[in-house]
Order: sequence, then C-alpha cells, then structure tokens
Amino acid sequence: MSHIQRLSTSVVNKIAAGEVIERPASVVKELLENAIDAGASRIDVTVEGGGVELVRVADDGAGISADQLPLALATHATSKIREADDLFRVSTLGFRGEALASIAEISRLVIRSRTAEADAGAELRVNGGSATDVAPCGCPPGTIVEVRNLFYNTPVRQKFLRTTQTEMGHSSEAVARLALAQPQIHFTLKHNARVIHDLPTGDGLRDRVARLFGEDLAESLIWVESSDGPVRVSGYVANPSHSRANTKMQYLFLNGRHIRDRSLQHALGEAYRGLLLSGRFPIAFLQLQMPPEQVDVNVHPTKLEVRFQEAGKIYSQLLAAIRGKFLTTDLTARVEPSSSIDADDPRGAGQMQSDLVQWARGALPSDDSAQPQAEQSRFDFPTSAFERQPLQLNRLDRAWPDRVAGQRNVAADDAPSETDSSQRPPDHHALQVQNRYLITECEDGILVIDQHALHERVLYEQLREKVLSGKLDTQKLLVPEPVDLSAAEAAAVLESRELLGQLGIEVEPFGGDTVLVSGYPAMLANMSPADLLRQVADQLTGGGRSPEARDLLDDLLHMIACKAAIKAGDRLNPAEVTELLSQRHLVDDPHHCPHGRPTALVFSRSELDRRFQRK
Ligand code: ADP
Ligand code: MG
Repeated sequence: MSHIQRLSTSVVNKIAAGEVIERPASVVKELLENAIDAGASRIDVTVEGGGVELVRVADDGAGISADQLPLALATHATSKIREADDLFRVSTLGFRGEALASIAEISRLVIRSRTAEADAGAELRVNGGSATDVAPCGCPPGTIVEVRNLFYNTPVRQKFLRTTQTEMGHSSEAVARLALAQPQIHFTLKHNARVIHDLPTGDGLRDRVARLFGEDLAESLIWVESSDGPVRVSGYVANPSHSRANTKMQYLFLNGRHIRDRSLQHALGEAYRGLLLSGRFPIAFLQLQMPPEQVDVNVHPTKLEVRFQEAGKIYSQLLAAIRGKFLTTDLTARVEPSSSIDADDPRGAGQMQSDLVQWARGALPSDDSAQPQAEQSRFDFPTSAFERQPLQLNRLDRAWPDRVAGQRNVAADDAPSETDSSQRPPDHHALQVQNRYLITECEDGILVIDQHALHERVLYEQLREKVLSGKLDTQKLLVPEPVDLSAAEAAAVLESRELLGQLGIEVEPFGGDTVLVSGYPAMLANMSPADLLRQVADQLTGGGRSPEARDLLDDLLHMIACKAAIKAGDRLNPAEVTELLSQRHLVDDPHHCPHGRPTALVFSRSELDRRFQRK
C-alpha cells in the first residue's frame, strides 16, 4: 500500500512557502529583511493590487554578484550562516535561505542586482519555480526584487486572501514594524502610486512613531532604559492616557527583529497595573539588545516568536525599568481633560488626575508579581474615574421599562417559577429552548420565535425611529479612542462623518490612517468603539453590496441593530423573555428581521393534529 517517495523540489518549496508566505505582507517582510541584512540605507517598497499583482522592493545594499544570483534563489542557500552552530549566534534577520526560493515557487519573480564593484547588473527571472539564465541588465548598485501574480499557482492560498485594503493593511504593518526596528534606514511604501509611508532618516524612534501613528501618541511617549550586564532594554512606552483595546501596539524588537512575546507583554501589563482600565493595553516601542547566543530565534517559521534563555530575568528587567520610570514621571501632567468629558461630571478629568497623582505617589508594588491581596488593593486604580458614563441602553436593558430592570438578577438558569409567571401577563408565557428560540402559545397553535431575529427587528425599528426624530443617544467617550484603519477605510469613514454623526458615531481625523472615535451609539455598549468602527468601515467600503443598490444609512442601522441584539445562544432569564415578547407588538413588522428572515413560525393546531394523526 504505502509507497514512500521523495518529493520534488517544487513540492518541497511549495510546502515551505505555505509556512513562510501566508499573504502578500509576508513577501514584503521577507524582502525587506533581505534588504536590511544587505546593509541598505534606503528601501523603497511598491505594492499594487494589495500585493497580489506586485510587490517590488528596491534597496541600495551590498547587492549580489552575477555568479551568485542563481544561488540566492536556490533552497537552503544563504550567505548568512555556514554551520548549525551559527544558529546560536544569528545576527541577521534571515538565515534559513528559503524565502526567495519559496516566493519564486508561487509567483513570477524578477531579481536584478549589482554589487558596488560590478559595472553592470545581473538579472534572473523565475516563473513558478523555473528560472531563466542570468542575463546582464542595467541597474543601480543594490537589489530590486519584483514579485508578480503571487499565489497564481496555489489557488487554495488565493482563496484565503482578504480584500485589497486588508491585505494592504498587513503590508503596511510589515513595513511599520521593520521601520520602527531600524530608524536609521529610509523607508518608503507606495500602494498603486499612492505614498503610504515616507520615513526619512535622521528621524529618531519618536519621530518615526509620530509619522506612523500621529503626533499625539508620539508626544505622550516616555523614554525607558535599563542595562543588566549585556542585556539592554530601551525605547518608549506611552503615557497611560494612551492605550489600546488589544496588544497590537506593543512593538517589541529583539536585536532589530520584531517579536511577539507573551511574557514580555505580561510584564508591560503589570507595569501599567492600576493605570489602565481592564480590557485596555499599554502601547510600547521597545528594543531589547542581547548577545545572540542568549536567545533561540529558530523556533517559529516566520521567527515571530523566540525563546529566551533567561526569560524570567528579562521579564523582571522590563517590569522594573518601566515601574522605576513611572515613579519619577509626573504622569498627571499628560493626562489632559478630554474635550468630550462632561464639564460638570463629578468623576471627570479632575478626579482622574488626582487619582493618578495618588497612584504615582504611592509606593509601587515590588517586582514580585504575585502580590498579596491586601497590598494589591492599595494600587487598584479607582477605575470608575476612567469608566464611561452609565449606559442607558444596553442590549435588552436599553428598551426595558424600570419594572423589569429590577428583576434582572433572576438567575439565568432558573426555570420559570410560579412567582415569575404570576407577574407575567398570561399572553407572554414563553419558554426558551436551545438558548435561541422562544416558544409560546398563540391563538391557533404554537409560535416559535427566533430570539435574535426578533430582537434585531425591535432594535432596528427603535433605532430608525430615533434617528429620524433626531433623538438618538450618543455615548461620549471619556478618552477618545484612536482606531487604525486601512487608508481606504479611513477615507471612507471620514467622508461619511455627517452620516455617522446621525447614528451617534462621532469620529475625527487623527493623522495617517488613524481615526479617533469620540462618541458612539449608547445602545452599543457591548461593542468596543474600535470594533464598531471597523464594522462601519466595512459597510462603507462595500459590505458586499453594489454601491447603487444600497441605502447607506439603512445598512448601518441594520448593522448596528444586528450587533446590539441578543444572539442565538444567549441564555435569557424569564424577565428578559417576557420583555422581548412584549415588544413584539410594538414593532412595525414583527414577522421579519431586518435581513428579511422570518422572526417567527406558527405551528397551527390543525397542523399538529394532522401530524399526530388525530384528524
Ligand atoms: P536568507 O535571508 O534566509 O539567507 P533568502 O532566501 O531570503 O534567505 O535569501 C538568500 C540569499 O540571497 C541571502 O542569504 C543573501 O545572500 C541573498 N540576498 C537576498 N536578497 C538580497 C538583497 N536584497 N541584497 C543582497 N543579497 C540578498
Ligand atoms: Mg531572507
């Protein structure tokens, strides 16, 4: 049965490509790393069609001589290591010698290169893995790699590609990471002739952050540094007035390589403990320098994760460096009252500042992260100061009369008891089944209601009514939240500012492709402003419908209603079931959810009789 066979080079390369080249941004990353390893001082990246049509990276680095060019494209051919032991002292970004071979296997690749000594360049073309002979060509010293039609011969990969904007966002992120790691190199990035980044040299790290993420964030940065023997940590962390809903803005670099490291992210979180609301994460741009033999960079296909020999020590060093700095930094000076804070909100900016003063003056927790409970509480930041104002419209609660709100503590799992049912109007007697359908009796049989579809319809009607009468509740954010979008998304969002304003979504430009959310519809309390904006951006930039066929406002209303509604799978307590059913009669079209699906099905008594053969 089993017949063992050697795989062809082409198959081997495709498998390797599968690991290393996930999307166009992976090509950008690999080519950039090669250019950096070649000692380039300027690197120009051109992307077309999200990177599927073209990724071109041109550098002014050392170049490759004509006779070496075929080797550069061969598998497991590298100039960066010689023997296995070298793996423990890798000082270049690449070392596996498989990136170019992998990329060439799944694209049409042209490489032109010229060393400083050579008086002409050399060119090599590879189509889906088969190479031409090296030919002379005219080109400046350095290397230009052009990758066209990525994944043209791997249709499966192609299927996983997202929209042009999304793919471009990943490429832009790849450039940003390396540009942050290498402030001494001039980077440019163009997409379809539009300049996305131009990051000249002479810029320090702070300037680079400013160009990539806006002045506001750059101004909030706090320098930290610490040395412990040969291990050095240095870079910037943001003032706690700037934070994100995820850890994406935690840029960590190890010897110039961008890495992700859970332990170091945790150290960051610890350093900010008490300074950020739960669910918020610090922003950081930190370089770690250490002897290459103290870290294994060969544990992850794209080398994103690494293994430190002394992980615990580095954790403590980072934590101590930031805490020490915070102790001597007047964090209060930077927490400016946001314009969106209600002037007479008693828990507003003033309180926030004095809380921070108190925090900063208090003794800091020791480096031992396992704090005794009692001590810890001293440092617990009074989060109420950062919290948003109470939300009036929170999913079901939003539309709930007060009488029901009082019953909300009924345990979700409680079966409806006698007392519950006695409080309920008899016609709303219903049973939730499978956490998604409500079953109740109707005049001529039984009614099965889809809880999500009905709630969505109810919310949609109410939302539309409020928008039309201009009575929509907007929730102002105490601290406006910057959200990074793709260039196209940011443009679409800002163009639709007025329309979004009608929906209670308040946005402002924030530099680059970042948009600041300063208010959002109160009924969307369960959604983070960033998620909301991404959804909105998605609707605005297409949402899967042709531009003529759409009524943008209506689409957005549907989207919001859908997001705010209870979901299939949400367990409802008896009071919630009652309330939802009572609203059924308030909506214009209770039979269909906004997507046009039915909200309820009737099984008539005669139908049931027939099925039970009662006749
Ligand atoms: P690796 O970077 O792991 O060595 P690659 O497949 O990315 O493997 O590149 C293979 C070799 O080609 C490199 O080791 C390097 O010698 C050469 N090379 C690739 N890109 C460049 C470039 N832009 N400038 C100079 N040399 C390059
Ligand atoms: Mg490489």
